Amino acid sequence: MKILVAVKRVIDYNVQIRVKEDGTGVVTDNVKMSTNPPDDNAVEEAVKIKEAGKATEVVAVTIGEEKAQETVRKALAVGADRGIHVKADGTLEPLAVSKLLQKVVEKEKPDLVFMGKQAIDDDCNQTGQMLSALLNWPQATFASKIDVKDGKLEIVREIDEGLETIEVNIPAIVTCDLRLNEPRYASLPNIMKAKKKPVDQLNASDLGVDISPRVEQIKVEEPPKRKAGIKVANVAELVQKLKNEAKVI
Ligand code: AMP
Repeated sequence: MKILVAVKRVIDYNVQIRVKEDGTGVVTDNVKMSTNPPDDNAVEEAVKIKEAGKATEVVAVTIGEEKAQETVRKALAVGADRGIHVKADGTLEPLAVSKLLQKVVEKEKPDLVFMGKQAIDDDCNQTGQMLSALLNWPQATFASKIDVKDGKLEIVREIDEGLETIEVNIPAIVTCDLRLNEPRYASLPNIMKAKKKPVDQLNASDLGVDISPRVEQIKVEEPPKRKAGIKVANVAELVQKLKNEAKVI
């Protein structure tokens, strides 16, 4: 069984995001970039399944500018066997990414595609679902537990009401939740070894997909600053303020 894992390069989750002065986007120059956090869980799960003898190959794929390759190298350093970098510049919307991933799937013919549940930069939560529709494969989103059975997966999903257990036939798309596992750290020797693993380069423009944006971004603004809070001396004062000043009770 072959598992393809989609990894996206995003601004590191610890970075305080700053909006560009001209309002055209957020500052990315000299900002720490990392793999989108749930994509690390997707890689970890694929590697674990391979280590358990239930998969034969884990292939990491990223779509983006030259530096996006770093995310593939990181996946290789924690156990993926090889990588694919689809070069594409500029803003990529989920529909464009899923159409490019569709082309990669048609070429690679994996049995499973693992992805993150959501990218922390655009917060779209769309790419996995769109890829599933394009391929006409079953989808299991927000997976917090994955059991590989004969030709099937049993998945526990995080839903608003709690946990839902479903079964999907393979081939399938699975989008991974942060609670799925604890991603391992890449050791220095493994980072060095990963440099020798193969990474295929493809150009988005050669794949015959229209990746032009369909959404026009008009302006990016900082959210309004939160006003400072106040301390009250006791419950009676709190109730009085909620009643007479905030007028919420
Ligand atoms: P989104 O729909 O943008 O929230 O992204 C959901 C998931 O799709 C991410 O967690 C990644 O696994 C995958 N994905 C999105 N954009 C890319 C990209 N440019 N390259 C590789 N994978 C991506």
